[in-house]
Amino acid sequence: MTGVFHQIEQYGHEQIVYAQDKEAGLRAIIGVHSTTLGPSLGGCRMWKYSDEGEALRDVLRLSRGMTYKAAVAGLALGGGKAVVIGDARTQKTPELLKAFGRLVEGLSGRYITAEDVGMKVQDIDVIRTQTRFAVGGSNEGGSGDPSVMTAFGTFQGMKAALKAAGLGEELNGKTVAIQGVGNVGYHLCSYLSAAGAKLVVTDIYPNQLEKVVQEFGAEVVGPDQIYGVDCDIFAPCALGAILNSRTIPLLKCKIVAGSANNQLETEADGYTLFKQGIVYAPDYAINAGGLINVAAELDGYNQEKVLTKVNQIYSTIENILDRSGKDNVPPHVAADRLAEQRISEGRLQKKDNGGCCAVSSQLSASVSAV
Ligand code: NAD
Repeated sequence: MTGVFHQIEQYGHEQIVYAQDKEAGLRAIIGVHSTTLGPSLGGCRMWKYSDEGEALRDVLRLSRGMTYKAAVAGLALGGGKAVVIGDARTQKTPELLKAFGRLVEGLSGRYITAEDVGMKVQDIDVIRTQTRFAVGGSNEGGSGDPSVMTAFGTFQGMKAALKAAGLGEELNGKTVAIQGVGNVGYHLCSYLSAAGAKLVVTDIYPNQLEKVVQEFGAEVVGPDQIYGVDCDIFAPCALGAILNSRTIPLLKCKIVAGSANNQLETEADGYTLFKQGIVYAPDYAINAGGLINVAAELDGYNQEKVLTKVNQIYSTIENILDRSGKDNVPPHVAADRLAEQRISEGRLQKKDNGGCCAVSSQLSASVSAV
C-alpha cells in the first residue's frame, strides 16, 4: 500500500485522523480535506471495507468531493468526510455511535458530521448526545432527511440544463428516464410528475417501482434498458460510475441530470459526453440540495431560506453550462474550475486576514441567505 502521506499529498488534504475505541468496537478515519472556506462538513459512511487501505481511499475521495460541492454551492464550508469500518446492519451500536460522537467533538468543529451510507437520521440523534458538531438529526433543530431538498435541487438543475440544451425550461411534455427510485428518485418523480413530465423508471426493488407506478403513472423498464430509453433527460439516482464506455454508447438522451454521486467513471467519460453533444449537469453541483439543507442547521434551520438557496441550483447549473460553452470544456471541468476559483479566492482572503476563518464577501452573503 502507498504511504498515507503520499496519498494525502496527492489529494491535497489538511488532516487525516485515525481513531479506535476498543470497548465500543469503533475503528474510524476522518478526512479533513479543506477548511479554507469554513469548517469541513460531510457525512459519515459505515461500510464493511475489505481493508483499511480501501477505507482510506474512500474517505480521501469523498472528503475532497465535499470541498468542491460546498464551494460550488456557495457555502462557507470546507470538505470533510468520515468512514467507520464495519457492517452497519450488525455492528452499529449506540456505544459505537457515541464513541464516534466523542471523536468528532475532539476535533473542536474542524469537522462537522452528518449521515451517509449506513447512517440514518436516528443515528445522528445518538451521535449528537456527544458532540455539537453533527447535523441532519431529527431532534433539537435537526433538519432530518435531506433527500427532499436533494430532489428539489436536482429538479431546478434539470430546468437549467433543458434551457442550455435549447429545449426551453419547461418539464411539461418532456420524457425523463430515472435510474433508481429510492429516497431522492421518489421525490424527484413527484416534482417531475407535478410539472407534467412523462416518467420512465427502473429500480432493482419492485416495491419502490410499484409506488411510483401507482402514484405518478410511471412506465417501468429493466435496469439494463434504462440507458437506451429515448428521452430528453436521463437521471441517474442510484449508483456512481454509471456513465462509462459501456453505457454512454447506449444513451439516447439529450441531457444527463441526476442526483447520484460520482456519475462519471473516468474523466474521459465526461469528454465523451461533451463530444457527443449530451449536456451533462455535474453531479456534485446539481445534488447539493441535501448539503445546503443540513448546513442550514448551523445558522438555525429555516426552511424558507433553504428553499431559496436550493432554488439557486438553477443558476449554478446555468453558470457552469455557460462557462463550459464559452471555454469549450466539458461541464465537469467547468464545475471543477469554478470550485477551485472560489477556494483560491478564499485562501487569498484568509491570508489577508491573518489566516483566520475568512470567506469571500460573495460567499458570506450567500451563506447568510441560507
Ligand atoms: P437510496 O438508496 O434511497 O436509493 C437508491 C435506489 O437505487 C434504491 O431504490 C435502489 O434499489 C436503486 N438501485 C440500486 N442499484 C440499482 C441499479 N443497478 N439499477 C437501478 N436501481 C438501482 O439512495 P438515495 O438517498 O435516493 O440516493 C440516490 C443517489 O443520490 C446516491 O448516489 C446518493 O449518493 C446520491 N445523493 C443522495 C443525497 C440524499 O439527500 N439522499 C444527496 C446527494 C447525493
